Amino acid sequence: MPVITGFDIHDVRFPTSLTGDGTDAMNTDCDYSSAYVTLLTDSALVGHGMTFTIGRGNDIVCAAIGAVAQRLVGKESEELFKDMGKTWEYMMADPQLRWIGPEKGVIHIASGAVNNALWDMYARARDKPLWKLVVDFTPEELVSAAAWRYVSDAITKEEALAMLKAKEAGKKEREAIVREQGYPAYVTSAGWLGYTDEKVARLVKEALSQGFNHFKMKVGADPADDLRRGKLIRSLIDDPTLLPPSHAPPPPESIAGKNAGPTGAVLMIDANQVWDVSQAIDYVTGLKEIKPWFIEEPTAPDDILGHAAIRKGLKERGTGIGVATGEHAHNRMVFKQLLQADAIDVCQIDSCRLAGVSEVLSVLFMAAKYGVPVCPHAGGVGLCEYVIHLSLIDYVAVSGSMDRNVLEFVDHLHEHFVTPCSINTRGRYNVPDSPGEGYSIEIKTTSIAEYEWPGGSYWVGRRTEGKE
Ligand SMILES: [Mg+2]
Repeated sequence: MPVITGFDIHDVRFPTSLTGDGTDAMNTDCDYSSAYVTLLTDSALVGHGMTFTIGRGNDIVCAAIGAVAQRLVGKESEELFKDMGKTWEYMMADPQLRWIGPEKGVIHIASGAVNNALWDMYARARDKPLWKLVVDFTPEELVSAAAWRYVSDAITKEEALAMLKAKEAGKKEREAIVREQGYPAYVTSAGWLGYTDEKVARLVKEALSQGFNHFKMKVGADPADDLRRGKLIRSLIDDPTLLPPSHAPPPPESIAGKNAGPTGAVLMIDANQVWDVSQAIDYVTGLKEIKPWFIEEPTAPDDILGHAAIRKGLKERGTGIGVATGEHAHNRMVFKQLLQADAIDVCQIDSCRLAGVSEVLSVLFMAAKYGVPVCPHAGGVGLCEYVIHLSLIDYVAVSGSMDRNVLEFVDHLHEHFVTPCSINTRGRYNVPDSPGEGYSIEIKTTSIAEYEWPGGSYWVGRRTEGKE
């Protein structure tokens, strides 16, 4: 039985700030980075995990990962796998580290990297991709794998069990459907604030030709500019002549209530937390003409009642625009309250801001109970590789539906992964299917050698050229 003997940690940073990739109203200068950990055992079995940052501070997260991972050293892997919910509680319960959270900030995203690495190891030990490991659990096993502390006022284990049992009979059929069709996706990379109109137009046309029909645009820096760019994007996505020959109209249930245009295309907007509450309502009302489905992260991510007020305000003004958030919701309790307060139309979990798969599962259960679709946050580096697994778990085993869900896709940096995610000809994620790929998050050793901060060959070269 393999015993965890140690870990390797790498601070890997990609120079995305040079191209304007990832620019929005709040984050103007991002070097997409991975705080990356590999758990080692006394056998060939390993587990890879990471959390995402946007540059400076990645070293701080790496230091925290070391502190959390140390807690698993000396443990027998099979003992940890037996009850992943209990293992999660053990991981989170260091009596001294807890003080620098609890369950938020650097220590929590570091815990996400380590918990994800352990889940990756578990999937590799069973020769299954992570999603398949989890959907093959019995409802009892799936309930016990989640993080349960502090959420029983929203959902009990008994309720979750009944919900999962009700979905059990359809699992095989749903798995076959999603393997054949892929999982619905949307595109963000056409709408970064740092791109010129020409680049936006080119990328939107490319995305249309690839079969996408949901598009997201960054807003919040300047209302007139947002309206102009929004009209530009709408003029393209609503133009039937730009659709590929293979285009089929989307099923009506997939776009109902989403402010879709004449071709069935849907636009979303994302403000990355820039506004106060009343300012958000006014600003978004001013963008009504471009008919977004939702405004994402309109205000501070911790402001649950603020999100509820914005959602209510936009409804009272008859805008037809919903509210989405979650990529900075730092734990399951924030999601619990967002759901309890009727604050969101769409639940945007993040694969490594929450503390790994176990905490994500508890949010999937709550969202399914409250009937709110889960559309995970992705992009950055590694997030797309991670989240396809989470959406597959949600569809096959938890909510049982992908009719209204769309999973974020950003076409950046996938080439650095051993088993990168991919999109089919209908603009949907392919199902990861290699037995040995675990959670699909292993970074190529050549990419680590090149982009490790500060000693990787790329960064050394930049300093030699006098650019850093
Ligand atoms: Mg966002």
